Amino acid sequence: MAADGFSRRGVLGLGALAAAGLVVPRGLARGVGQSVAAPGGGAGRRRVIRIAHVTDTHIMQDLRAPEGVAACFEHIRGQKDVDLIMHGGDIVFDSMDQSLERSKELWALWQKVLGDSWKGRVRYCLGNHDVWGWNKERSKTTGDEPGWGKQLALDTLGMQGAVPKGAYYSFDEVVSGAGWHIIVLDTVRPEPNGYYAGLDDEQFEWLKGDLSLNRMYPTMILSHIPIFTATVLDREPNERRERIVTPGRMCIDYGRIKKLFLENPQVKLCLSGHMHLIDRVEYNGVTYCCNGAASAAWWKGPHRECREGYTLVDLYSDGTFENRYVEYGWKA
Ligand SMILES: [Zn+2]
Repeated sequence: MAADGFSRRGVLGLGALAAAGLVVPRGLARGVGQSVAAPGGGAGRRRVIRIAHVTDTHIMQDLRAPEGVAACFEHIRGQKDVDLIMHGGDIVFDSMDQSLERSKELWALWQKVLGDSWKGRVRYCLGNHDVWGWNKERSKTTGDEPGWGKQLALDTLGMQGAVPKGAYYSFDEVVSGAGWHIIVLDTVRPEPNGYYAGLDDEQFEWLKGDLSLNRMYPTMILSHIPIFTATVLDREPNERRERIVTPGRMCIDYGRIKKLFLENPQVKLCLSGHMHLIDRVEYNGVTYCCNGAASAAWWKGPHRECREGYTLVDLYSDGTFENRYVEYGWKA
């Protein structure tokens, strides 16, 4: 698929597919359950694509992180039929707090390890650690430097366009008339010397438009920070017996995104990272999977119950899918 970074819907309409005798994907109505059949198994369904969702690689010179990332890619190469790697963000550690020189070193390290490890397609989603300099105090930046913020990562990774639109986009994966629509969101919003999670109004309007124009195929959404997750509840309550969800952990505008999903029942699956934890929440007809971290505890071993891993995501022609976390056996 061309790396055009934008939706290319509209080549074949439903009528054209029906005329061609191709099966129109089922499962666009709410309530279609997740597949329990063996991979590629269920009668009448075909796998459209197998994606390796890799997230939170946090590459750095220390802690044998480059070897760890290489081991992760090697494990993925050993899997059958991976068509695409989708990186869920926090590719490097930790451009937000670093000088330009240090950030460039981190990106060069990533490009080297990737180049040595994977020849296939990669699509990126940016994480908070991939944004250069937003912590102006620590990075000693002013914000006026060329490339400051997300642009350095977009340019390095060849993501098309300038901020903001290079950081969110959609595309289709179609095989013999059966397809999935895939959306990548940018959930990292700026605040002084840091970030919070959500979509700005411009991106939200874009998402609304993209969903309304792309209703033929089931839809998967990838974000770095979860749109919705149970992992935020796995913490001790404070002295007032409250569990507080801080604004950097889950999209603060979940409410309006939920409404959009209710109006667009083709949205089936939302993947995220950022939490370095694994969950699967089925809520209002959408399955939300927080898919661990390649680095587990930032290359220091398991993060709570989460070990170093990636996720195999199989998307099927009938709108069902499988999402399976795979540990690749790294010993920190
Ligand atoms: Zn993150």
